[in-house]
Amino acid sequence: MESSIIYTHLKNPKHQSIVDNVLNLKRINLDDALYLYETAPLHLLGYLANFIREKKHGNNTYFNRNFHIEPTNVCVFDCKFCSYSRLYAHKEEGWILSLEQMLDIVRKYPEDAVTEVHIVGGVHPKMNLYFFAELLREIKKIRPKIHIKGFTAVELDYMFRKAKLSAKEGLQVLIDAGLNSIPGGGAEIFNESVREKICNDKVDAIGWLDIHKQAHVLGLKSNATILYGHIESIADRLEHLDNIRTLQDETQGFQAFIPLKFRNKHNDMQHVKESILVQDLKMYAMCRIYLDNVPHLKAYWPMLGRQNAQLTLDFGVNDLDGTIDDSTKIYSMAGSEEQHPALTTEQLVNLITQAGRTAVERDTLYNIIKKYSSS
Ligand code: SF4
Repeated sequence: MESSIIYTHLKNPKHQSIVDNVLNLKRINLDDALYLYETAPLHLLGYLANFIREKKHGNNTYFNRNFHIEPTNVCVFDCKFCSYSRLYAHKEEGWILSLEQMLDIVRKYPEDAVTEVHIVGGVHPKMNLYFFAELLREIKKIRPKIHIKGFTAVELDYMFRKAKLSAKEGLQVLIDAGLNSIPGGGAEIFNESVREKICNDKVDAIGWLDIHKQAHVLGLKSNATILYGHIESIADRLEHLDNIRTLQDETQGFQAFIPLKFRNKHNDMQHVKESILVQDLKMYAMCRIYLDNVPHLKAYWPMLGRQNAQLTLDFGVNDLDGTIDDSTKIYSMAGSEEQHPALTTEQLVNLITQAGRTAVERDTLYNIIKKYSSS
């Protein structure tokens, strides 16, 4: 590859040794990652991330056809960065969907129009484990083939504790009701002192990782996220990635890692500046470089905006999530560029092919449904 020649004669010998390791598919350690992150120019990080991305996936860029159900935005927790929730004490300002309203959303999508429903929302004390198990069972009655990806570890931890069940027992109740995988939300940042400042009352890092571990042990796949670009340091970000990489070595249960950019509208952290695009791209690239054992790196286009999401495809990203159909409010309420996130399959395919990549529709477990030609 032409550009690999460029990076065999770097002036900085430490960069050269790290680059050599990455190009030889050798894992880099935390110290090297920190040095690279803090000192390497964007183009070098982008090159390395793209090298790994193309080794793993060639030119393929995945997406799926999905929609979200957000049962409620009423929440018992008080995360400082959250623009979406309304405290349980002020629940009249939020929304709470009934079982029937959620099933009506499912009925809107004909059998083969979508392959996945993503269920995620606030933590409402009255929507408990057994309520959600019933929801899953009813969804499967209406759409037996749909893949249900549901509930962050934050929601799961709360429902399991209320039901007085272990993570394993609680997950089994949901699996028996139709749960197929779990999303990666709620991880935020694992570093204890930062987590204490931005979301001190919900499940901690150990609890989040344990729920994912138990899910993997029970055969469920899951994703993982990081909320970056607020008050955390680069070392905190890498510590977070290291936790994911360590668990993945043990379970191989993570499918995708999704960096989530902090947005500062309508929350208690409006004084914190948002990261700029160069920093976002560096972050994506470092995630791809460090997480050598996580297959996919996903850019969630409703959060970044479409054009920025296209750019990430040259910085390690090989997945843009899904069509979504304007069914999530989480990022639009935080001020993201996409106020009504919805793309048709054709628009999503165009977005990917315009960036010079090959669009591939996948199901939630990354089985290929259709590969589109670049023309
Ligand atoms: S981020 Fe999640 S857990 Fe935290 S307040 Fe918002 S909805 Fe609740």
